[in-house]
Amino acid sequence: MIVMKFGGTSVEDAKSMQTVIKIVQKEQSRQPVVVLSAISSATNTLLKTARTAQEGNLNDAILLLNGLLDRHVTVMENLIDDRPTVQRLIASFKPQFEELRNLCHGIAILGELTNRSLDAIASMGELLSSQILSEAMCIRGIPAKWIDARTFMITDNEFVSAAPQFDIIDAKVKEILAPLVSSKTIIVTQGFIGSNTNGITTTLGRGGGDYSASIIGAALDAEEIQIWTDVDGILTADPRIAPSAQKLRIISFREAAELAYFGAKVLHPSTIFPAVKKDIPVVVLNSKRLENTGTRIVSRPPKTNIPVKSIACKRGITVVNVQSLRMLMAYGFLESIFSVFNKYETSVDLVSTSEVAVSLTIDNTSTLDKIIEELSTFAEVSILKKQGIICIVGDQMRSTAGVANQIFHALREINLVMITQGASEINMSIVIEESQIDKAVQSLHQHFFETIPATDIFEPVGGK
Ligand code: ADP
Ligand code: ASP
Ligand code: MG
Repeated sequence: MIVMKFGGTSVEDAKSMQTVIKIVQKEQSRQPVVVLSAISSATNTLLKTARTAQEGNLNDAILLLNGLLDRHVTVMENLIDDRPTVQRLIASFKPQFEELRNLCHGIAILGELTNRSLDAIASMGELLSSQILSEAMCIRGIPAKWIDARTFMITDNEFVSAAPQFDIIDAKVKEILAPLVSSKTIIVTQGFIGSNTNGITTTLGRGGGDYSASIIGAALDAEEIQIWTDVDGILTADPRIAPSAQKLRIISFREAAELAYFGAKVLHPSTIFPAVKKDIPVVVLNSKRLENTGTRIVSRPPKTNIPVKSIACKRGITVVNVQSLRMLMAYGFLESIFSVFNKYETSVDLVSTSEVAVSLTIDNTSTLDKIIEELSTFAEVSILKKQGIICIVGDQMRSTAGVANQIFHALREINLVMITQGASEINMSIVIEESQIDKAVQSLHQHFFETIPATDIFEPVGGK
């Protein structure tokens, strides 16, 4: 069996949904489980609705909800050629929107918006899009069945960025999904959403649909996990920054994981891990260009002598510099520093140390004041805000001489704040001012990729 995940732009309107049905039908013999995102920008609209309600603008919030309902109704009217089915769907959406309105009402009265309410509201996008697709498939005679992901995607209680409980999910997927797959039913379910053990709705964090797909794929021992999106695959850089970015035909799990972690939005950062565990290939495909073969992410791609494969970037980074003369020749200093970050549950991305100083990067600054206060009891602390990370990735970087020299040459006009070569040795990460990110990605891209011919690895975007 395979898992097919379709992102927001792949289900943005009736025409796109019709294409999704065609894609799924073509794979019907491989017993697909379909994992869907909300229609494009619906999650943003839902979150904006919640914030509008919190600000006390209930009328504006209701207007946003009405607009969203209209958009869904337009999609279903153009997709489903059967009036009674459309009417039944509209009737079933009414109470769901009523629930959203009630939630907004409560938020507006209290003026308080909890992460739990945010998840209840945000989850509606996936629930609606998947109901429409499932009905549209059934009406076309495809044996589809809509399954609520909250029955099997069990998470902890960290609303807004909930952690999947793999053991429970494994058991539930085997109990609920596996028999349907065996009976050749095409399951249509939601990415991104789940529930805690008490049945309260949670989400896996923004862009979490990819993660859902690979969790489901791993639990069902899928032969392949397909991520359908709006670009040809994993590219040499974000095409919005480097318009001449090329497609990578094949890359390793490790390369893809680094790229996703350091900002390549095409995959949620956690997507690769469940797939790695079961050694399931992940294929990134373009739902707007079906002839394209996408990017295959596998454990051992064929060896190449190409050192750099892709460049990722992340904005909104804060650098924390910690200095203390006491560190000179002392042990335990790093432990004291990390225990502070640990205590405030703040994950550190990059670390670089010298004899008496440590620089670290974080992207969650919600407890930064407390972290600074505590670090200051034993060290001098300074902060650099509005920084960004550029991450240059390639399996062969470690065994190729002169790559660092080329990177620094390409970045010669930019002030480098921090440089780290990951322990994995397949990436080099460089911190620079956020405002320099585009320029840095473009210079690096020009240097490494702009003159590269099509090979077994690279392919121009728009190719086959
Ligand atoms: P979906 O809604 O299908 O999940 P996303 O918007 O989350 O799609 O991810 C696709 C987008 O990721 C692309 O449109 C592209 O702008 C961005 N992106 C960033 N880095 C890369 C990269 N290295 N390769 C491909 N796309 C990238
Ligand atoms: N709809 C969710 C989001 O916009 C999840 C996803 O698309 O993967 O973040
Ligand atoms: Mg996405």
